[in-house]
Amino acid sequence: MATNRMWRLARRPVGDIADEDLTWHEEPAATPGDGELLVEVRYLSLDPTNRTWMSDLPGYLPPVAVGDVMRGLGLGVVVESRHPRIPVGAKVSGLLGWQTHARVKGDSMFVHDPALDFSDEDYLGVLNHIGATAYFGVTEVAPPRAGDTFVVSAAAGAVGSLAGQIAKMRGARVVGIASTPDKCRYLTDELGFDAAIDRLAEDIGPGLDRTCPKGIDVYFDNVGGPILDACLARINLHARIALCGIISQYNATRPAPGPYHFPNLLIRRAKLEGFIILDYAMRFGEAFAELGAWMKAGKLRYRLDSIQGLENAVVGLRRLFSGENMGKMAVKVS
Ligand code: NDP
Repeated sequence: MATNRMWRLARRPVGDIADEDLTWHEEPAATPGDGELLVEVRYLSLDPTNRTWMSDLPGYLPPVAVGDVMRGLGLGVVVESRHPRIPVGAKVSGLLGWQTHARVKGDSMFVHDPALDFSDEDYLGVLNHIGATAYFGVTEVAPPRAGDTFVVSAAAGAVGSLAGQIAKMRGARVVGIASTPDKCRYLTDELGFDAAIDRLAEDIGPGLDRTCPKGIDVYFDNVGGPILDACLARINLHARIALCGIISQYNATRPAPGPYHFPNLLIRRAKLEGFIILDYAMRFGEAFAELGAWMKAGKLRYRLDSIQGLENAVVGLRRLFSGENMGKMAVKVS
């Protein structure tokens, strides 16, 4: 019988995640019941929202209970099946948790079509919640028009790097905000962004003035806080803002002040819309068809920033908050 190795939430983090907030356990893998599967996890997706699930503040999903296996999205292969339509060997994605062997309800899994010629890495980097977030965020929540100035924060990260490339395909002038010269070079030299701002080397206000001389028409916000405020100060008439994530606040122990430029939403008749990708779950196929075609045509690129071994999951998650990751952060489990 396989051994399931896992991380359980030991207590709710205060501020940055501490080593003691999660504990390592090993126990025999569970046996699936009717309609269930046993999935061997190949990749665990590390997402900034993992931190929000550890806290008991109001969120879009209930908090992970202290003592439970940490919630996480992943990709794996079915090793036992008691589901009528999902065979052993099927590749599935979904909420598998921070563990090596997950017992899950078959109906809760996204089953990958074996006829499509995509790698595990393609599924992890693009054809999942990450690609869908970038896709619907840009095509529906805050769509750019040709010639618009489109700004995206955490631009060298998983969602931001795809959002910027999709906006570019829509004819926008794309400006990315990231935190190192390497990331900025990646954006302009490899992904075709028109300009990049190194948020640690240059103050964000002057950086936006330098790269967005005609103001901002669309802002795809992955971080909130002072960067959102600096963008709000520079929005054009009828600007659109997709409120995708607030990573600058996930470790905060008290609410951040501002944004002080919120009144500009009114004065400039801008539209700011928050969105959670779960709302689009029934339409993921639509996104994956177009994202997959762009990948095959060489129009959409991604980077996987993967570390080896489930025991390194906490180390990997912290990299999202220090900005050390470039591209989609993941753990190669098996
Ligand atoms: P990323 O791969 O972009 O990694 C996070 C990045 O955020 C870091 O690399 C860093 O980039 C930046 N960052 C971290 N801390 C700060 C800070 N204090 N201030 C400014 N920037 C910071 O992660 P994802 O692409 O997975 O997620 C990006 C955002 O999208 C997150 O906020 C996430 O919660 C959200 N999201 C929302 C979804 C939805 O349904 N609405 C779905 C998926 C993700 P750098 O240092 O280079 O600036």
